[in-house]
Amino acid sequence: MSAVAAPRPSPVPLHMSDRVGLDIGGSLGKIVYFQPDAAGSHDLDAFIFGSSQYGSSGEREEHLSVCCGGSGSPLNGKLHFIRFATHRMEGAVQLMQRANRSGSVCRIFATGGGAYKFEGVMTSALRLPLLKFDEFSCLVKGVDFMLNHVPKECFRLRDPGGVRGHASGWKGVGAGEGGCLDCEYEELGAAGRGGLYPLTVVNVGSGVSIIKVDGPDAFERISGSSLGGGCFLGLARRLAGCDTFKEALAMASSGGNPDAVDMLVGDIYGRDLSAVGLSADTLAASFGKVGGRDGQQACSPADLVAALLRMLVNNVAHLALMSARQHSCQRVLFVGSFFRCCGSS
Ligand code: ADP
Ligand code: MG
Repeated sequence: MSAVAAPRPSPVPLHMSDRVGLDIGGSLGKIVYFQPDAAGSHDLDAFIFGSSQYGSSGEREEHLSVCCGGSGSPLNGKLHFIRFATHRMEGAVQLMQRANRSGSVCRIFATGGGAYKFEGVMTSALRLPLLKFDEFSCLVKGVDFMLNHVPKECFRLRDPGGVRGHASGWKGVGAGEGGCLDCEYEELGAAGRGGLYPLTVVNVGSGVSIIKVDGPDAFERISGSSLGGGCFLGLARRLAGCDTFKEALAMASSGGNPDAVDMLVGDIYGRDLSAVGLSADTLAASFGKVGGRDGQQACSPADLVAALLRMLVNNVAHLALMSARQHSCQRVLFVGSFFRCCGSS
């Protein structure tokens, strides 16, 4: 990106001790740790950088770390990201308490539903003021920040049909688990594309929220769906016994054949498609082949997860397209941890 906007002012005056922000969602808690270039090492550094695994579910996603700021900016430094399972929140708070024994962090910034749900747990254990912020407002400002300041974080696939999983190729911070997507991409920066806004942001987390964004401080939630990442993981566990999100995605992308489960237009019309104007491989009914009482189609657990992923991704894409059209938006940006290992989705 050639033109880089100045960092936007913080809604509250920041101190040098303001290093930690949390986004506590229904499935995952996300921690961002700011490591300024100017300051020397901080008491929390030893804890944060001593390992990339914390407790039973905490993990620092090293490939997501980003440099930010610019000459003279107070935001010069590096952002580091840690994720943990929200149901381990109490353990996470205990670790934070241990990490901050010296008291060098004086207050915590938090967003997401968990900022409200776990406020009591956090404030009583950490004995620090908790500043809560609206999650959509943080999301929209975060998207604006990333688009303006972090090259390669937001991208568009040149040939989405040509994505070949996570093998090798471009390594970019936002390109999925390990930063790898084996496909061509085009960066979606702020410069040279006639501005960013209006933008439809589709946040696929536990559920789905669709937000029309006119600028970093102007947005409206326009739609949503309960069929998102939580639905995917819950059904993958129940249908195919997957243990983790990564395992579910791996199952879906390696060897799962959704056509063994789904009914396609060709399954209904046979070879003569002249009457419908659709191709034979258009999806007609998700899970349509496995609903019959007799002659059940043989399918594997991997086929079921692949069909589940196709069903959810199609549904999200459909909602996104309708919402964008209804609000005259040319661009749709997909965000949320559902896209963590985004090759298959
Ligand atoms: P929320 O803010 O609601 O917690 P996220 O944006 O963090 O939502 O996305 C949560 C979704 O991301 C899960 O429902 C799941 O589909 C997917 N996901 C990605 N990585 C993981 C993981 N390590 N554990 C659980 N779910 C994960
Ligand atoms: Mg969330």
